[in-house]
Amino acid sequence: MKGAGEAGGGGAAGEAGERVARDAVARDDQDRVVSPLADADDRDIEGALRPKRLDEFVGQARVREQLGLVLTGAMRRGRAPDHVLLSGPPGLGKTTIAMIIAAELGVPLRITSGPVLERAGDLAAILSTLSQGEVIFIDEIHRVARPAEEMLYLAMEDFRVDVMIGKGPGATSIPLDIAPFTLVGATTRAGLLPAPLRDRFGFTAHLDFYEPAELGVIIRRSAGLLGVALRDDGADEIAGRSRGTPRIANRLLRRVRDYAEVRGDGVITKAAARAALELYEVDESGLDRLDRGVLSALVHRFGGGPVGLSTLAVAVGEESETVEVVAEPFLVRAGLIMRTPRGRVATPAAWEHLGLPPPEPGGPGWAAGPSRTGPPGDTLFG
Ligand code: ADP
Repeated sequence: MKGAGEAGGGGAAGEAGERVARDAVARDDQDRVVSPLADADDRDIEGALRPKRLDEFVGQARVREQLGLVLTGAMRRGRAPDHVLLSGPPGLGKTTIAMIIAAELGVPLRITSGPVLERAGDLAAILSTLSQGEVIFIDEIHRVARPAEEMLYLAMEDFRVDVMIGKGPGATSIPLDIAPFTLVGATTRAGLLPAPLRDRFGFTAHLDFYEPAELGVIIRRSAGLLGVALRDDGADEIAGRSRGTPRIANRLLRRVRDYAEVRGDGVITKAAARAALELYEVDESGLDRLDRGVLSALVHRFGGGPVGLSTLAVAVGEESETVEVVAEPFLVRAGLIMRTPRGRVATPAAWEHLGLPPPEPGGPGWAAGPSRTGPPGDTLFG
């Protein structure tokens, strides 16, 4: 089974169908309080919560240090820094870092995204109007259409674009110099990026899920900005259920704040956080109803697996794509299920999570052992 969004050989119709399916899954996912994708509410508030400078950015210590050196070096030389590629799951701070890069350099930022850049002209319109040293952020850069991607190669390397004038046999291409700029590309699927594009980035960083302690710092910072009274144990409670993702941490904070204001005295304590998140059906590990449904079907109906994705999806009453894209990545990362060549398998931790004794080692349902993990690259984050 192909990963969702993977480049297939289906041609334009296949790609359009794939996009429709992917967008439908994204919509399903956004209904969940633990979705790592931004909904309209998040977008409204995120501007206020984003760290503006590198030293306000919490966690990802190595990336922060490396990036600090890249930026300081470039500023000392008085030149635009290398192009930067950021990879990692949604909600971990890629857009935030692009904004920080522009702020640290003191230059404007232009934001666009791969799916918007369908024709070379769409990209040419942006590139030809950049000012000296400007930062351009392309989110989901693995989804830039082919003609625009080729234009990007030349622009990144030589700060030049070839603009086509006219159509048909009389069309001519006119080279146009553009101002030196820094491209910041972000992708959740680094494995899908063509090598020539990847090679043109001088600095590449992978963002990893955050530790609960780091999320605790982010939650306290956000509470301060939102004017919410938050106890340390309340912050820890939210952090532990945030799936390693700052965007989710900030969203859970807002849901808990509502609860504390309406049902309590407005102060977020451990008890308020627990009660609110129980109401939203987010458990202590950050699993929601869909996640638990998948685990429960795997364990109760299929004896721990292995079971094929589509059979599992039918058992929980969801589309295969929803199970694969929305629930699985976190369940795999949390060590609760494994993708194996023969299907999905519950790990002993999954049995324990459901309050059941794990199966006998080596017996039916037993799933320990690295030899049974999925093929390399079989993850959403490529
Ligand atoms: P991505 O582009 O990777 O999807 P964003 O940069 O949009 O993620 O981050 C999502 C939200 O999470 C932002 O609004 C920001 O407030 C918060 N956030 C992300 N990373 C951090 C961090 N390291 N420190 C504080 N807040 C963060």
